[in-house]
Amino acid sequence: MSEPAGRAPQRVDAKVLIGGEWYQKDDRLESLNPATGEIIGYAPLCNKEDVGLAVLAAREAQSSWAALPLDRRIGHLETLRGLVAQEGDALASLITQESGKPLQEAHFLEILGTLDLITGLCKGAPAYLDDRRVGGGNPLPWGRRHWIRRVPLGVLGVISPWNLPLAIPMGQILPALLAGNTVVFKPSELAPLVGTKLAGLLHRAGFPPGVLNLVTGGPETGAHLVEGGLDGLLFTGSTAVGLQIQAKLAPRLIPTGLTLGRKDAFLVLPDAPFARTVNGAAWAACFGTGQACASAERFFVPIQMKERFAAAVAAKVGALRVGNGMEEGVEVGPLISSHQLERVEVHVQEAVWKGARLLCGGRRLPGPGFFFQPTVLVDVPMDCALMREETLGPVVPVVGYADLDEAVRWINDSRYGLSASIWTADVERGLALGRRLAVGSVWINDVSYSHTQARFPWGGMRQFGTGRAHGLGLLHELTSMQLLGADRGQREGEPWWFPYSSDGLDLARRMRFLLAEGLAGRLINLIPFFKDLVKVRGTR
Ligand code: NAD
Repeated sequence: MSEPAGRAPQRVDAKVLIGGEWYQKDDRLESLNPATGEIIGYAPLCNKEDVGLAVLAAREAQSSWAALPLDRRIGHLETLRGLVAQEGDALASLITQESGKPLQEAHFLEILGTLDLITGLCKGAPAYLDDRRVGGGNPLPWGRRHWIRRVPLGVLGVISPWNLPLAIPMGQILPALLAGNTVVFKPSELAPLVGTKLAGLLHRAGFPPGVLNLVTGGPETGAHLVEGGLDGLLFTGSTAVGLQIQAKLAPRLIPTGLTLGRKDAFLVLPDAPFARTVNGAAWAACFGTGQACASAERFFVPIQMKERFAAAVAAKVGALRVGNGMEEGVEVGPLISSHQLERVEVHVQEAVWKGARLLCGGRRLPGPGFFFQPTVLVDVPMDCALMREETLGPVVPVVGYADLDEAVRWINDSRYGLSASIWTADVERGLALGRRLAVGSVWINDVSYSHTQARFPWGGMRQFGTGRAHGLGLLHELTSMQLLGADRGQREGEPWWFPYSSDGLDLARRMRFLLAEGLAGRLINLIPFFKDLVKVRGTR
């Protein structure tokens, strides 16, 4: 059957992919374009039985997929990379129509991000996944050889959000597959068509049937997948849902990678390069309409430059072109849903009510579509939701700090710890300060750029979640370690086997010095150790 999705703007009737076959269902969910409010397509609403079939198909495919040499698995990724490049325009416009982000962002963040990720994974995977020969430390097991193998976990679930509907699932599915796992993927109910397109590309790239399976649907479908007998789960989404999932899987000791909420900080030092910092602030807050994983949501600025900085950012942000991301020159798209629009509105209103000054924006724009004006507020109290909870909107809340220790305390006083950026002319000072921040990534004079680069970890601290989300580091999280040790089997026994004797005891005592002493002590004990060993070996 041919791949069903991706011919936007016609309405698409998407199918799910199970065991290499595409299936349609009567029960469907709608996919909306958040810029127009129009339905752009439908996707199956998968139930428990569908999810069960997908997990079964993944299980049946897993052992032969894992048995394929790594370079053959890498070959599939290389074919996929060619298809992503070829289909880049169609993919980017589908992403823009379903998630709202401007076309240029769809290209930079999702298409280029995915290509970069695939290249990094293909180059770096052997160093992570090939068997590694290791030497022994203890002097007794002579003549033995040891290897450490990485063994796939088995069947993994990947549950994704809507904000980077291509790059995020690619960043998890591809390392999972490279490591020899098979996957059941559930995209967000707000971006099922991009998810379907992703599955279609893997299908066309020749990944064998059952290696990647797609189920579409909402939270219920996700919950069926969580309960579906997986060997591991990668979940990206809200902290509330992540905590529920963790509670369900922990009693069964199922490895779970959770990439959850964030409240990223933007820290300006007095010597910050002003124009770059202002431009960076406008972008950090408003790219992805403030809904990207590393959008900055808290801005800390020296008190003496707070007004000048906030006014300059307001001038930039107030001039951004808001609209349908398919139109040329649009810089800020819609929010993903009416629910998200309400959340941003409530956060901004509460901050103003508690004393923040609005410098620009602050209101929703008339529909259709879920648009909110890019907004700058100054003197935002620390106890409002805008400074503490995820806002996920194009908002720049500016707070003045009197001394840097105070700013560091504020940054670290968050339930989330994904990332932070520091803006300064003194890079060394910025780096030193970065070491004091309890976050997973710190960037000096830039934001977010490391997200899809395979060699960098993506993850954070505290209620950000667990583990690292994509890239090469994930290869170790998605595999288990196996030690292979081999003795030639030519001796009849070992010094620590039966029978126990005074010679064996002497040898153990001697070894104590051999293991614990410095070089001189080891040399002194070496010859007596060999004598004891020969005595004991003589009895075996
Ligand atoms: P969400 O938690 O509502 O949904 C995420 C996914 O989980 C969706 O596919 C959804 O259908 C599914 N789901 C919902 N309830 C479920 C349940 N009970 N069991 C199983 N699956 C369930 O999140 P969202 O609104 O799609 O995404 C936004 C959130 O994702 C924000 O909190 C954002 O910070 C976070 N996020 C974080 C990062 C990061 O790098 N830290 C990246 C992207 C998104």
